[in-house]
Amino acid sequence: MRLILSEIVTLSQHLNALENTPELYRPCACIHCHETVIWRYGYYYRKPDRLNHGEDSLNDIPIPRFQCVACRRTFSTLPECIAPRRWYPWFVQQWCLYCCLKGCSARRLSQVFPLSRSTISRWFLWLTTTFTEHHRVLCSKIPSLGYYATCRSFWLHWLDSKLLSHAMVLLNQQAVIVP
Ligand SMILES: [Zn+2]
Repeated sequence: MRLILSEIVTLSQHLNALENTPELYRPCACIHCHETVIWRYGYYYRKPDRLNHGEDSLNDIPIPRFQCVACRRTFSTLPECIAPRRWYPWFVQQWCLYCCLKGCSARRLSQVFPLSRSTISRWFLWLTTTFTEHHRVLCSKIPSLGYYATCRSFWLHWLDSKLLSHAMVLLNQQAVIVP
């Protein structure tokens, strides 16, 4: 499981929180040995702002790191908006996936958005192949979602009122690996 700070849904919000309330990112225990004394351990940097360039870009984005006093291992806390294993933040993926679910082709999307067709297709394939597991886990948290039994109906319903990143936070909390 990754450490993800929920409800930090934009990069600006993340930068603001790091400056004003950095303690929010500090985990209450080591993710390896459960020791409760944790030190701050600097930052590492990511480049998740893929939409703004030059002076408008928010990159590089600092991600706070921590070290456990007992086992000495280090770990970091991501804000909800950053996908652990993808270049693009969740809201970009949400936008593309929503359009795909609505019937827009990856080819058409790649013509209006600075993303390759293969990237969009890969994301959509991921959404469909992980559906059974994601559906099961999310329905265990929110039983009323069981009404939406297909990948398309489920995710359209979710994305009409909620963020994709919020689903990923819930999945991560249940030890499901999210990209
Ligand atoms: Zn530890």
